Amino acid sequence: MTTLTATHPASPARAPGADPRLEPIRAKVLAGKRLSLDDGAVLYGTTDIWGVIALADFVRRRMHGDVAYYNINKHLNYSNVCALSCKFCEFYRKKGDDGAYTRDLDYIKDEAKKAVELGATEMHIVGGLNPYLPFEYYTDMLRAIHEVAPGLHLKAFTAVELVHLARIAKVYKRDDPQSGVRWVLQRLMEAGLGSLPGGGAEVFDDRIQKEAWKTKIGSDEWLDVHLVAHELGLNSNCTMLYGHIDGRRERLNHLEILRRSQDKALARLGYTGDPDGFVAEGITQTANITDPVITLSGENAKLPTPAMSSRGGYYQTIIPLPFFPDGSELEHLPGPTGLENLRTIAVARLMLDNFPHVKAFWIMQTLPMAQLMLEAGADDIDGTVVWYDITKVGGSSTHQEKSVTDLKRAIREAGFEPVERDTLYRRVVRDGKDWRVVD
Ligand code: SF4
Repeated sequence: MTTLTATHPASPARAPGADPRLEPIRAKVLAGKRLSLDDGAVLYGTTDIWGVIALADFVRRRMHGDVAYYNINKHLNYSNVCALSCKFCEFYRKKGDDGAYTRDLDYIKDEAKKAVELGATEMHIVGGLNPYLPFEYYTDMLRAIHEVAPGLHLKAFTAVELVHLARIAKVYKRDDPQSGVRWVLQRLMEAGLGSLPGGGAEVFDDRIQKEAWKTKIGSDEWLDVHLVAHELGLNSNCTMLYGHIDGRRERLNHLEILRRSQDKALARLGYTGDPDGFVAEGITQTANITDPVITLSGENAKLPTPAMSSRGGYYQTIIPLPFFPDGSELEHLPGPTGLENLRTIAVARLMLDNFPHVKAFWIMQTLPMAQLMLEAGADDIDGTVVWYDITKVGGSSTHQEKSVTDLKRAIREAGFEPVERDTLYRRVVRDGKDWRVVD
């Protein structure tokens, strides 16, 4: 972590002609104070987008210095058959449709072996809500992967998939959805689940949900799933799919909901909000937590240690995802511009002061944009991503993949030091084909 001084090279000095409304926000950022929703509206509304980016870069460097993370991972989409038909989704198929698939265990084991060959530390596993698969398919899948690739971290299943699993396992209770999800997560953890990805959050807003993904779970259930995961000691991520029928105010509300959820997660783990007050000696009582405000982006704030990462129980990273209209029911919409993508990364960094990481997911942002985003608040560009089937830049037949050399070169060219991480953001050290994490 870098130390802030008045002459810090990344200090966001006010440029001539800059929006004066950024001045009080800059003062709050320098003091490590939390920004309000009104501040967020200024960050989103100002024409001085470079001023916003400078502020986000300042925070990002204060938290991570010149380090930019990448990882070596493989994606597995086990099935694209889905019971739902979200308007923004070009991934799903109905059973019998051209291109519909469901992977069997032999296929999945082969993929896991290939991942190990490629030096991957992680397998990222998501799919549609397939109504034809039994619950055992999912536990068998995780066990089968562990059998052939015991070192792979399994980051698997979005919140909506987990609710679906609770339903097909017949443990879901409408009046107590948490208990069914808890049961599911416990079974999956026994089978090898290591953490949750952040997908399916979209934008937390009833109007948008009603219009674009009516039958998908809403924000309350999404947050419930992550709360239960955190209580069980799993780390998770979260996303924000923006640039469709959402507005900027709705995005800010989404970030605020996540920020509050993270406050509570960190408080449960013993963060006090005091720069030197991190205790983290076991999980404290949920019932005692009312409205904690905990920031990680101040001058001396402590980011989670590797030991805390291993223990789990909080959100690691926010991943803003730009909407791609092609092939979806919302194809008539233009999708967000490059500048809107840059600004959204910067706003996410500034508003989510209690999130350790902000990811520029290169596969949806493109690698050239991800490079720029490293100077706009992002500290992570994700991984080598062998096979990603959900949303692709450049058409539905493109499976994107980058080598470690590509990612490192892109990071260095942007002026940062590439650091390989595992799923839990611990540094990875390699010795030939072997790798280990640094505690
Ligand atoms: S977004 Fe997910 S739940 Fe919705 S249709 Fe696509 S795969 Fe199914």
